[in-house]
Amino acid sequence: MEAFKFSRATTVEQAAVSGKGPVAAMPEARFVAGGTTLIDLMKLNVERPKVVVDINGLPLDKIEPTPEGGLRLGALTRNSYVANYDAVKRDYAVLSEAILSGASPQLRNMATTGGNLLQRTRCPYFRDTAHACNKREPGSGCSAIDGHNRMLAVLGGSKDCIATNPSDQNVALTALEATVHIHGPKGERMVPVNEFYLLPGSTPHKETVLEPGEVITGVTLPKPVAGAKSLYLKLRDRAAYEFALSSAAVVVKVNGGRIEYARVALGGVGTRPWRSLEAERELEGKRADAATFRRAAEAALRDAKPASENGFKIELAKRCIVRALTNATVSA
Ligand code: SF4
Repeated sequence: MEAFKFSRATTVEQAAVSGKGPVAAMPEARFVAGGTTLIDLMKLNVERPKVVVDINGLPLDKIEPTPEGGLRLGALTRNSYVANYDAVKRDYAVLSEAILSGASPQLRNMATTGGNLLQRTRCPYFRDTAHACNKREPGSGCSAIDGHNRMLAVLGGSKDCIATNPSDQNVALTALEATVHIHGPKGERMVPVNEFYLLPGSTPHKETVLEPGEVITGVTLPKPVAGAKSLYLKLRDRAAYEFALSSAAVVVKVNGGRIEYARVALGGVGTRPWRSLEAERELEGKRADAATFRRAAEAALRDAKPASENGFKIELAKRCIVRALTNATVSA
């Protein structure tokens, strides 16, 4: 790990300024909260910030109702707290289930809502500085495309990067149509989570719309859809402490045997948490049955492009979608 300058912030405004000046003017500065991604990557020399600003002192650790009937999760709410919060378990089960399916209890006790939004890929070449990686070192090449890519993405990739977004939380937030709240040098802004992540294209090192100096202050969940059921299904190599090969977050409302409302997001197969508008179009207004679910799954994976080792994910993701929709509608 390389030496870095450290400071602590106790207000959001202060977070934008470190001992060396405005954080916005220092692309090599990083905020740290739970540290479950950043510190690991610093030990591996993948992240080499010159300045680290600890934001654990910011007053962003609450869950509060919004005037619109939803919930606001402060950026520093710990994953365990969110997953076990009564209103989250009751009204946003998909989020609770997604969080509890990831990492370990110890990590969930530290990891935060805001940090999880910025979780970096688990592509093995990204984490190993002996290999070329466009995401770590722009322009250096991609070792995964012709290398070991079993865990990597079949949706949203480019010739420069096919790394998956590893988060479970973010897949659920996508299905819930959550909004990310951001504070930066130019003031406040809000970004729908589905627009927060960038496709890799020719700049895979740019993963989100966040600009230097901007800090995530929270996430709002819209008012729950009355009568809808939500669910997270995660398929992986082992039952715990493992990243998804494929996962599906669904929010579905069925009325009289027909699907009135559907939101579908996929994890483990996309370069970002993958909202499938194609699947949703195949579902809404149709009968809630196996044939409809399969058509939705086919639509969701229509543009999938396998690499040498991950073609199995395409059928796996389809089955994951069908099973998630079946389970979510079985008692509807
Ligand atoms: Fe790096 Fe992306 Fe290629 Fe992995 S897939 S080696 S993260 S450029």
